[in-house]
Amino acid sequence: MINELLRENIKNMQPYSCARDEFKGEASVYLDANENPYNGPYNRYPDPLQLEVKKAISKVKNVPVANIFLGNGSDEPIDLLYRAFCEPRRDNVVAIEPTYGMYKVCAAVNDVEYRKVLLNDNFDIEAFKLIDSANLNTKIIWLCSPNNPTGNSLNADEILKVLQWFRGIVVVDEAYIDFSTKQSFTSYIAQYPNLVVLQTLSKAWGNAAIRLGMAFASVEVIDVLNKIKYPYNINILTQEHAKKVLSNAAQTAKWVETIIAERKQLIKKLKELDLVKHIFPTDANFVLVKVDNANIAYNWLVNKGIIVRNRSSISLCGNSLRITVGTPAETDQLIAALKEFGAVFK
Ligand SMILES: *Cc1c(COP(=O)(O)O)cnc(C)c1O
Repeated sequence: MINELLRENIKNMQPYSCARDEFKGEASVYLDANENPYNGPYNRYPDPLQLEVKKAISKVKNVPVANIFLGNGSDEPIDLLYRAFCEPRRDNVVAIEPTYGMYKVCAAVNDVEYRKVLLNDNFDIEAFKLIDSANLNTKIIWLCSPNNPTGNSLNADEILKVLQWFRGIVVVDEAYIDFSTKQSFTSYIAQYPNLVVLQTLSKAWGNAAIRLGMAFASVEVIDVLNKIKYPYNINILTQEHAKKVLSNAAQTAKWVETIIAERKQLIKKLKELDLVKHIFPTDANFVLVKVDNANIAYNWLVNKGIIVRNRSSISLCGNSLRITVGTPAETDQLIAALKEFGAVFK
C-alpha cells in the first residue's frame, strides 16, 4: 500500500551503503571507514540508525523502536516525506490553513503543489473538506495538533475520518503534544500504515539547539525515510545529549507543569488589558491573542526589547500576536509594556 504511493525513482533506487551498515557487531580493529584512528570518540562515524537514542525514546513514548525515525529536527522528516512521495510538478499535498510554515516551504523547494484548506471558525478541521480538495495526485495531508499558530488541538474524530477515508500519507504534527491533555496519535500507528506522527525535543523537552525530531509511523514508512536520509543525519553530540535528556523525563514533566501554570497567569493578565480583544483557546506553550492594533503593538514591544510573533498577515489571524509562555518575570515585563502601550494609544 505504502509502496504504491512512492515516487518511481525512490522505489527503484539503491540506498547508500555506509561502512557502519555493512558490518554490524563488535570488533576491536576498525579499518573500514577511513577514519582517523586518534581523537576518540569523535573520530568515529556515529550510529546511522541511532539505536540507543531510539531505545530511550521507545520507553518514554511507548512506541516500538522499529516505528521510530529520527531527523535533524522535525523539519528533516517533513522534507523527506515530500522527497519520498511527491513527484515534482505532478503530485500535490493538502494542508490546513493557517498552520506551521515549513510544510509550504518544503512544498516549494520540492516543486509540489500546496493546497490550503481553511480551518473553520473554531480553528478546527472538517474531514470532508480536506478530502474534497484532494485528488488522485494528492500524496500527503498535513495536520498539526495542537496547531501552530492557533494553539488549539484538532478534533480527534475528524482526524480519524481523514485517516479512514484518505489512501495517502496523513501527517499529524504533534510538536506541542506535551503541553496538551489530549491523547497522542502514536497509539494509532499500528492501525494506520499511512499515519505519520511528528514530535520533537525542541519545545517541552527544552532542546531546540540540539536538533532532534521524531517521526513515528509504520515500518513501511520508516524504511523509506531511512533509505533516503543522509547516512549520518544525527551527529554524536546530539545522540549523546538526547540520551541524557530522555533519561530525565521527570525534568520535562516539571517544566511542562510550570509552563502550563504560567500560561494560565499570562492569559489572566492579558484578559485584563483593554487592547486585548480575544484570547484563543490553547493546548500549547503559546497563546494567539487578538489585539487592537497588532502591527503597532508589535513594534512597541520590539522597542522595549520584547519579541513576540506578529501573525497579522496570516489567514484568519488578523491583528493577532502569538505569544510564547516564558518565565513569570518575562510575563510581567510583557504585561507592563502592553499596559504602557494601552495608556499611550488610548
Ligand atoms: C516548533 C515546531 C516544530 C519543531 O521543529 P524542529 O525542527 O523539530 O525544531 C515542528 N512543528 C511545528 C508545528 C512546530 O511549531
